[in-house]
Amino acid sequence: MTSFADLDLDPRVLKAVADAGYRQPTPIQADAIPYALEGRDVLGIAQTGTGKTASFTLPIITALLKGRARARMPRSLILCPTRELASQIADSLAVYSRHVRLSRALLIGGVSFAEQDQLITKGVDVLIATPGRLLDHFERGRLLLTGVQIMVVDEADRMLDMGFIPDIERIFRLTPFTRQTLFFSATMAPEITRITKEFLQNPARVEVAPQASMSENTAQHVCVFRAGHRSREAKEKRIVLRSLIREQGDRLTNGIVFCNRKSDVDIVARSLQVHGFSAQAIHGDLDQKQRMRVLDSFRNGDIVLLIASDVAARGLDIPNVSHIFNFDVPNHAENYVHRIGRTGRAGRSGSAFTICLSPRDDRDLSDVERLIKQAVPRLALPQSAEEEIRTLGSGGRGRPRSAARANRPSKSVADKPCSTADEGRKKRGQRSRQIRDARPAPPKAPDGPVQGMGSHVPDFLKTSFTKRPSSSP
Ligand code: AMP
Repeated sequence: MTSFADLDLDPRVLKAVADAGYRQPTPIQADAIPYALEGRDVLGIAQTGTGKTASFTLPIITALLKGRARARMPRSLILCPTRELASQIADSLAVYSRHVRLSRALLIGGVSFAEQDQLITKGVDVLIATPGRLLDHFERGRLLLTGVQIMVVDEADRMLDMGFIPDIERIFRLTPFTRQTLFFSATMAPEITRITKEFLQNPARVEVAPQASMSENTAQHVCVFRAGHRSREAKEKRIVLRSLIREQGDRLTNGIVFCNRKSDVDIVARSLQVHGFSAQAIHGDLDQKQRMRVLDSFRNGDIVLLIASDVAARGLDIPNVSHIFNFDVPNHAENYVHRIGRTGRAGRSGSAFTICLSPRDDRDLSDVERLIKQAVPRLALPQSAEEEIRTLGSGGRGRPRSAARANRPSKSVADKPCSTADEGRKKRGQRSRQIRDARPAPPKAPDGPVQGMGSHVPDFLKTSFTKRPSSSP
């Protein structure tokens, strides 16, 4: 097994690592650090929690020990999606560089420009920044990126989720072609692959295999069901989710509901709120303050259910939770392991429930089971869910068959009962009466015979012989 001493790190860096209490490099560190020290580009596929921050900061510190930074020209650049992550990296860097002299600056929103500008002017060895703030400084002419020797892109998939990819491409183009790039992402979406192909040169690919074993303290279940009707799939899944949550009763102290799509995160959160659950959404679109507020509320128990996407939950320090609910089977099997890993920690017991819409999600479920090398125990559809879905389909109990219409997002979120068919008819009647009332009254037919028409003239014909009312008011 590799030890830190086997890695070609500067002795002062090794000392700082020992001070931090690290005994052994994590797999991503053992794999990535040698390539990074050789000066190669690295494509690291790893999540937060794997020790990836040290896998790029330790070689950066070692590499930058020779040479000095010039004014306004940082020697290395670490880009990350959020202020929170940027601050965490800055803190780690401070720990690992405590025995050497390296200057660093943090360019993030919420900190005064003047203060940041002062630091950059003095010359910075390591600049840690979010893309927007970095480009602000560049556009003001306060920063040059032509001195960047090493550039790190951290949590690229979260950058993608937050719409930062065009900024990242621009920043890449502002740095020298000869730079070394260390690029990290937890998953490789096609857009991420495209960027790595364009901006990385012959990268060494290092990947942290997702844990293949699951916590034995976590009881897993999957509820496989077929939707009664395609147009109601999402609604039926929400019914199943509510039933699963209710069935847990007091066993559920707090839980995370994972959705594959960002758009579903909001819909599911609102639906749960409408049904009286204590639930809040967390996604990448929330600003830092809002995210922190939601997380704090979840940590201190004010919110019981946190609704999240994989990307939004990544990197968040979320405490052990009693329950995980997968509103969808994850598209990437490894995300299943990461989701479930949020429960059953530190010897405590946890439960995980996955909703699998058959046949659509069958393949994703097989991928999960192949990865974790076990079958997830099947759970029958909760009876309450079955009944509610049946009611939905049959239009029974005063609900019209057209209840499917209520599946449009605005209505279905609230899951409001539709008006009854009778009410609908009554409303339609009222409307047509109103329309009729708004029309001018037909002229009264003249009494008596009409010349040239004999004595059997139908009433409607009589009107044609009278003066028609003018159409103008
Ligand atoms: P990261 O994935 O970089 O956010 O690191 C996750 C946590 O692991 C941080 O709290 C680090 O301090 C810690 N860590 C990083 N490397 C090691 C290591 N080699 N041994 C023990 N802990 C580590």
